Amino acid sequence: MKVVDTPQDMRELAEVLRRDEAPLGLVPTMGALHEGHRSLIARAREECGAAVVSIFVNPAQFAAGEDYDTYPRTFEADLEACREMGAACVYAPRANAMYPGGYDTWVDVPGLGAPLCGAHRSGHFRGVATVVLKLLAACLPHRAYFGEKDYQQLVLIRRMTDDLDLGVEIVPCPIVREDDGVALSSRNAYLSADERSRARAISGALFDAKRMVAAGERFSAAIIQPCVDELEKAGSRVDYVEIVDPATLERVETINGAARMAVAAYIGETRLIDNILLEPDDEA
Ligand code: AMP
Repeated sequence: MKVVDTPQDMRELAEVLRRDEAPLGLVPTMGALHEGHRSLIARAREECGAAVVSIFVNPAQFAAGEDYDTYPRTFEADLEACREMGAACVYAPRANAMYPGGYDTWVDVPGLGAPLCGAHRSGHFRGVATVVLKLLAACLPHRAYFGEKDYQQLVLIRRMTDDLDLGVEIVPCPIVREDDGVALSSRNAYLSADERSRARAISGALFDAKRMVAAGERFSAAIIQPCVDELEKAGSRVDYVEIVDPATLERVETINGAARMAVAAYIGETRLIDNILLEPDDEA
């Protein structure tokens, strides 16, 4: 497995992989790899001739006061996991190779970047879109794998690749959860034992919502309020609970077709996100 740390070296290797091992798959990550990331890497390995995993904690997507400095970094273990999973290459650029002095180009997807997390994390999706475009430019994949865990990110990146005619297929991958329902996240490492137990309220609220829809409830407001109550009862501070159109991310008042329910909430100091698909024909 090759480990590459500059955009130039990555591009050189990617040109070879793209030609000789097509299709080439990319799995962009911020490291601290867990089973969620592993599911993406496994899928890329299955479907592609070679898989590149990028590991980069992107300063541009963290606002001042967020957890850029404390974000979990487990580089050696991540390399081992990628090696074990058969990745062809890990691309791990340093921040100053990605954003050298004088760097001044940003990608904005303003409509899809505005609601949900965009309303609470200033500049976040501009940082995400920019870094993903740079990763795609360096790694030249035919396919890039994204988790539904970060649902807004997935939809926004698909919009960007379509709008800019990048010719990269964005492959959505299902959310991997712990046995108790909690979605795997690198940020779960911040949780104390008590907080980890209270974090179950987030996925619990989403599963309850799915049951409500299966039982015939169609009004978003009637689904959202009990979820907020449940989260607050678990002592969490809610950023948002919303039910949105899965493509436009616009709020849906009445569930007539597939919709996404998305939650962002603080458990202690840790901000966690999760989401679920709601469908009117969900079975009770
Ligand atoms: P991150 O390292 O948190 O930026 O995540 C890298 C990629 O892994 C993103 O596409 C995430 O959506 C995906 N991912 C993170 N957690 C999970 C999970 N629990 N299940 C599926 N995909 C995930």
